[in-house]
Amino acid sequence: SAAPHDEVLAAQEAHLKGLADSEERTIFDKIVSKEIPATVIYEDSLALAFRDINPQAKTHFLVIPKIRAGLTRLSKSTEDHKALLGHLMYTAALVAKQEKLDAGYRVVVNDGVEGCQSVYHLHLHVLGGQQLSWPPG
Ligand code: 5GP
Repeated sequence: SAAPHDEVLAAQEAHLKGLADSEERTIFDKIVSKEIPATVIYEDSLALAFRDINPQAKTHFLVIPKIRAGLTRLSKSTEDHKALLGHLMYTAALVAKQEKLDAGYRVVVNDGVEGCQSVYHLHLHVLGGQQLSWPPG
């Protein structure tokens, strides 16, 4: 239905209005605004998916919220983010299907220093197109 989508958009607009200039933009904001190029493979009003510049599997793409909305990292999520988080997870599955990852794939969110996060704009990694191993390091 359209309702949860509208709620997320409203929440994002509200956040944008109150967005502190001190919240540093990341390279992903520049990808969203097309200031720097990326191979975009999916886009809707809330989310963007593009190929990782340093792929760790035959297929490796990222799914991000177009507006960070306070989500520098997953651990910053609040109740208000639940619809957006659901949308990102669903988008990962949708784009994985588009990428024909029918034999399976992995979705990863790195959080913080010990999670090896390097870009502080929430993103889902989707890795596949080959047999993966488990566990990661
Ligand atoms: P993290 O380490 O934060 O979980 O993941 C950040 C990911 O963003 C890394 O896999 C890295 O290769 C990717 N990345 C960093 N800068 C760029 C860029 O400018 N373009 C693209 N397409 N990917 C990037």
